[in-house]
Amino acid sequence: MMNYHAIAIDGPSGAGKSTVAKELSALLKFIYIDTGAMYRAIGLYTAHKGVDANDREKVPALLPEIKLELGFIDGVQHIFLNGEDVSDKIRTEEASKRASDVSAIPEVRAFLLDFQRSFAQSNNVIMDGRDIGTVVLPNADLKIFLTATAEARAQRRYIEQIAKGMDVTYEQVLEGMRVRDLQDSTRAAAPLKPADDAVFVDSTEMDLQQTIDHVRAIAKERIGV
Ligand code: C5P
Repeated sequence: MMNYHAIAIDGPSGAGKSTVAKELSALLKFIYIDTGAMYRAIGLYTAHKGVDANDREKVPALLPEIKLELGFIDGVQHIFLNGEDVSDKIRTEEASKRASDVSAIPEVRAFLLDFQRSFAQSNNVIMDGRDIGTVVLPNADLKIFLTATAEARAQRRYIEQIAKGMDVTYEQVLEGMRVRDLQDSTRAAAPLKPADDAVFVDSTEMDLQQTIDHVRAIAKERIGV
């Protein structure tokens, strides 16, 4: 069997996981798998169907209707929900909240597990999420737990959203982040927590380039890539 490398990057939202994972995967020629996009797409589907994203009976009942696919266009992951490219639609505050809600439902996590693992079976991957090092890829060669203060994370997310022309305030973003952090780290099913063997990276005082360089150096030192 071929041996593929897997790098897991977990941490709360806004710590820079996706940017670091994207840049690093381009440098290392690994594919980048954004697992948050999968929860967001399921969250979006509950909105389409007018189903409460916290409903523990109705949400699992929708799963057989959902087909998710990933496509890579110029190395960038696109996510398709029943054939439709929803990569942009999943980036709203509402989709973020719904993603966090559906992700606490065990059936939803079980539904995504094999799909997520399948990418690491035949590719070198960098996968980001909340439970990659703990549940999805417990044998990953390298596990990074990337974090920063809630204020620093909210500030970054706010700037991103304003740049996209979204109508939000910093306070709304910070509040949304606090709610999701609490929800993600206290849920019973695969809560956000560092794997025992994860390397902690705190990006509060680092800019993106410094964070990328730092994680790049860890990857080189630990797994020689
Ligand atoms: O990473 P992102 O912000 O896109 O994730 C959206 C939501 O999906 C998170 O708030 C979290 O609740 C959930 N999630 C998860 N497990 C993952 C990835 C995301 O529970 N591996």
